[in-house]
Amino acid sequence: MEKTNLLYEGKAKKVYETSDPALLIVDYKDDATAFNGLKKGTIAGKGEINNRVTNHLMKLLEQNGVPTHFVEELSPRETVVKRVSIVPLEVIVRNIAAGSLAKRLGLPEGTKLKKTVLEFCYKDDELGDPMVNEYHILAMEYATKEELDLISGYALKVNDVLSTYLKDLNIELIDFKLEFGRLADGTIVLADEISPDTCRFWDSVTGEKLDKDRFRRDLGHVEDAYHEILRRLMGE
Ligand code: UDP
Repeated sequence: MEKTNLLYEGKAKKVYETSDPALLIVDYKDDATAFNGLKKGTIAGKGEINNRVTNHLMKLLEQNGVPTHFVEELSPRETVVKRVSIVPLEVIVRNIAAGSLAKRLGLPEGTKLKKTVLEFCYKDDELGDPMVNEYHILAMEYATKEELDLISGYALKVNDVLSTYLKDLNIELIDFKLEFGRLADGTIVLADEISPDTCRFWDSVTGEKLDKDRFRRDLGHVEDAYHEILRRLMGE
């Protein structure tokens, strides 16, 4: 499998077409951005770590009944995935208040939520990814009711599978963002990445942040945190 032409370059990944029209190659970069691109930097080794962590978790999810776009890891930072058209929603799942939710509702970060919270944001950088609800999604036809129900069910399943898996590794899954895509025949699959860029991971014992908040908030030891997640997941 080889890259043909560059289809898209985002903040953290490049996506290439291949000789097979149904398959793409994702190439993860070390570049990091936060606050809708306002803060820019590099996290050494991040591309490899996010590629390997994402693939490890995608495989776990597939085994547990969540269909994903994952096909095959090509190299430490490249993966073959199924071509999808991305549903233009960021699906956010929260177990503990942090980040924008803590700010919006005036909750101290770390407040346990009595129930898992699901949020949707419309993917649009110029608008700053505004939060939308089911009515907006149906009115704007970002997804159909059937797709939205499926996506919500998958998101909660991902939360159950990952929370349980990570707890054993002394990692608390605080919140995370998912993206879904449609295959050519309309099948909904989990796409994009699941990594310290897109999840909040706190050490269960010390509460130490092991994710991109170390970069967003200039907490230091950013690379160490990403490596620690890889080490706990893959034993290295
Ligand atoms: N998140 C993400 N991409 C985004 C926005 C959020 O991956 O564009 C993730 C973020 O890492 C966190 C969760 O979604 O794990 C919830 O993020 P929040 O809404 O609190 O926004 P933030 O405080 O990260 O701006």
